[in-house]
Amino acid sequence: MLSDDLIRQGQHIMTVCNACRYCEGYCAVFPAMENRLVFSKGDLTYLANLCHNCGECLYACPYAPPHEFAINVPRTLAEIRLGSYEEYCWPGLMSRAFRRHQLLAALALALGAVGLLFASTLLIGPERLSIARPGGDFYRVVPHDVMVAVFGGVSAFVLAALITGLVRFWRDAGERTPAPMPRLALIRALGDAATLKYLHAAGLNCTSAEEVRSPWRRWFHHLTFYGFMLCFASTSVAALYHVGFGWPAPYAYSSLPVVLGTVGGLGLLAGPAGLYFLRRTRDEAILDPAQRGLDVSFIILLLLTSLTGLVLLVLRDRAAMPALLLVHLGLVLALFLMLPYGKFIHGMYRTAALVKYASETLRTREPGEAGGRERHGAS
Ligand code: SF4
Ligand code: SF4
Repeated sequence: MLSDDLIRQGQHIMTVCNACRYCEGYCAVFPAMENRLVFSKGDLTYLANLCHNCGECLYACPYAPPHEFAINVPRTLAEIRLGSYEEYCWPGLMSRAFRRHQLLAALALALGAVGLLFASTLLIGPERLSIARPGGDFYRVVPHDVMVAVFGGVSAFVLAALITGLVRFWRDAGERTPAPMPRLALIRALGDAATLKYLHAAGLNCTSAEEVRSPWRRWFHHLTFYGFMLCFASTSVAALYHVGFGWPAPYAYSSLPVVLGTVGGLGLLAGPAGLYFLRRTRDEAILDPAQRGLDVSFIILLLLTSLTGLVLLVLRDRAAMPALLLVHLGLVLALFLMLPYGKFIHGMYRTAALVKYASETLRTREPGEAGGRERHGAS
């Protein structure tokens, strides 16, 4: 949770930066900060989720440690970000998940889900696990209705948890819900999120350590995000084929659901693997050590899910298919259940922060469009 000490530290740093303003060209955090005279908890969580942890402002800062002011914006905002995940989490009891043995917890959850699927299949119809020629028909192992009921129930819970967290973040940041949002602000914010503008999509490559610049962090994020979206599109198209057109699986290797799933799965292998290796080389000074498990557990779950999905696709006509399917489905279930309590949440809060920033920018910098300049006090 956000301790008073951490809030005070965030307020101290933002107050020094607001007087200095040297870094105002680096990212959205500094212009958003300049619109404020004082910093409430909601202001700090908003600014923290705007930060992409690039490190640029630490390397530029004359007041960075060992200076007595000890200004370390990326580390402090990273700590506040983690506190915000816990603060807005629903149900509140699960907020502990953000710090506690994330990798072990994720692996235990995945193992539990796989075990549960095997146990239920053995109980209901053990012959389903020994189909000699499965012909790629997953529904011979897990019936369609069972899959819809299990994944539908889990998805509904996950969606409720994600939306509750977002609403809490949004309200704390001083916005109304539902908020009247200019369309231009939404378009700008979604464009900034989709291109990772503040991971330097439009300029010089991102820093990964002092004097080290590379585009890889941005590219691996892109591979992960668009890989995830392609896999989601593949599942949606398959559902449309099945329910809408009455075309049941399995689908040919050249069909749209399989092509989308294959390309997405490859992206979800390359992106998380790249992020994992990159994380090991990043400057520890800008990272929050408490978030290592959070990062690694999400990466490992993504890797295992995409790897088993691709292996399942290749071996879908073989006798190993039923066991592989249960392993893959167990991992997908665990990944889904971890979405509101793991690293996935950062993409949602960051996009919401970008929407707020775009909307503020329209209000304060382009008065003709939305009512003139305003400054925020304790919003
Ligand atoms: S990080 Fe340092 S240089 Fe940048 S605005 Fe803050 S105090 Fe100034
Ligand atoms: S670490 Fe990068 S994104 Fe975060 S405040 Fe500094 S310059 Fe902006």
